[in-house]
Amino acid sequence: MTKLVMESTDCLLCGSSNREEAETLHWKGEDLIYAICRECGLKYMSRRPTAAWYAQFYRDEFWQESRLQKRSYDPGSTTKSTMAWQEDGLSSDELEKRVTRSRKRQIWRAQRIWRITEKFFELGPESTVLEIGAGWGKFLELVMKETGCRAAAVEPSEMARQYMSETLGVSLAARSFEEIGGLDDFKGKTDLVVCSHVLENTIDPIDNLRNIRNLLSQQGIVYIDTCNLYYNNAINPYHPYVFCPETLRSILLAAGLEPVYMEHEGHPARVSRISDIQKAKYLAVVARKGPSKKMIDRPEMVVSMAQEKGKILMSRGRKLHALKKIVKRLFPFAAR
Ligand SMILES: [Zn+2]
Repeated sequence: MTKLVMESTDCLLCGSSNREEAETLHWKGEDLIYAICRECGLKYMSRRPTAAWYAQFYRDEFWQESRLQKRSYDPGSTTKSTMAWQEDGLSSDELEKRVTRSRKRQIWRAQRIWRITEKFFELGPESTVLEIGAGWGKFLELVMKETGCRAAAVEPSEMARQYMSETLGVSLAARSFEEIGGLDDFKGKTDLVVCSHVLENTIDPIDNLRNIRNLLSQQGIVYIDTCNLYYNNAINPYHPYVFCPETLRSILLAAGLEPVYMEHEGHPARVSRISDIQKAKYLAVVARKGPSKKMIDRPEMVVSMAQEKGKILMSRGRKLHALKKIVKRLFPFAAR
């Protein structure tokens, strides 16, 4: 276990230091502090590990050593007693189980990405697809099979890199998000960039999105998905940010990306069907190159949703999740 190197920061989106502290996480002997910006509503870690520290963590420790044991979804409440992480090394059996579970989850994610993105492009053998944080490469495997395109991955984990290159024949473009600025072979030529559950893990999502923009071809698109703060307050040591629809949109615009499609449910009161739950829990966005704009959507609404209404919203979300579990138990063959 490597000792944490910490730093403090203001809001990345608007630069303000005017913030309300939300939760504190204890991890590896340090306090990680989440705050909500009072000016724009961005939820971010105002005290966090440095980018360099995270880079070595994802390279050497993420899959092998660290595992989320419990999590809590109560915004504003103290999470000291309900959050814990297993930080001892996993046995090889446990690691194998964890990897198998993670591959299964990635197959489901791959199908979702395909469903959302396929109407925005026509990919063929001449097309290039790049996935950042490709994990076990399940989306790249699917898109290669469906379109015959060239597929490349950015992935830090040695275990995952080996699997993709030896088992799937995916080429390995880089190790980290921060390296994609130097991918000259992909600049202006990439037809689809996929970034699934990765943006919230980075220290500077605006800079990283600008680098993605430079990779896109004229008609190229980027697909991003991430947890939705209003339903899924995914605070954990790996997430320097938790986005909601408004702050994700603002981050994209600041980086010169124009959202052309966003899948989410705006308010939990609208989520009444089981099938809507996944849409609400996770934001999915498709964006194209656009002009760079500073725009913050309805900041007062965002801040109040994130701070005050959070508990009511989460409670409704939890009830729906519980209902989903019961339905699954009663009708195990029912589709997701
Ligand atoms: Zn802000």
